[in-house]
Amino acid sequence: MIFPVTFYIFAFIFGAVVGSFLNVCICRLPKNESIVFPPSHCPICEYRIPWYDNIPIISYLVLRGKCRSCKSRISFQYPLVELINALLTLFLFIRFGPSFAFLVLFLFCSSMVVITFIDLEHQIIPDVISLPGIVAGFIFSFFIPQLGWLNSLIGIIAGGGSLWLVAAGYELITKKEGMGGGDIKLLAMMGAFFGWKAVPFIIFTSSLIGSVIGITLMLIQKKDSKLAIPFGPFLALGAILYIFFGRQLIHWYLGLSGVMGG
Ligand SMILES: [Zn+2]
Repeated sequence: MIFPVTFYIFAFIFGAVVGSFLNVCICRLPKNESIVFPPSHCPICEYRIPWYDNIPIISYLVLRGKCRSCKSRISFQYPLVELINALLTLFLFIRFGPSFAFLVLFLFCSSMVVITFIDLEHQIIPDVISLPGIVAGFIFSFFIPQLGWLNSLIGIIAGGGSLWLVAAGYELITKKEGMGGGDIKLLAMMGAFFGWKAVPFIIFTSSLIGSVIGITLMLIQKKDSKLAIPFGPFLALGAILYIFFGRQLIHWYLGLSGVMGG
């Protein structure tokens, strides 16, 4: 389906505006602060940010990354989160059009953006996103015939269970805690949204990308090999790749190994 270009522009703007709200979640959820009150303010000088300084992406550029009142630097993370969410929303709209699937995947991807940036900074995945996420994914499955509730339920068990086994095995062997419980709940949420078939794909792609980036980082900063890299962002990336390329990549891989027989 082809829509007028204004639809795509609107999808991008909508994603950016929601991205602005996601920034608030990223800043406040780890501190257990309210995400609705108080209104946006500069963290340095408490200057209350007026609407014209709070326009996603644009205000950062106009203000050249500085607070209007105290001139202290505004984190580049703000426009980055807005841009990422705007592009994800645009790509979802191009792929799925105005549909229930679009709405569900939009909610999912927005949660992934929040989880990624919180995990990068604090090495935690907030339960307030992943636990309701598991429930939401399961409820949505009743309205998505291609998914189905049983597939979603098995997805929750397969997603949570597989990482739990990895974590338990790792702990048993090394007597150290390796993977956090947050990752287990996150993959259970993904299983709820996409069903059990998505689980091996997400584990495989996230481990592959995670290893490549992990090894690269270790080589760059040679001495610090105990660098803690959170796994959540890679799981989120794996799930987003699954949304856009999952089916094609699985078919390509199975075709390559001859299982599909062309
Ligand atoms: Zn300020």
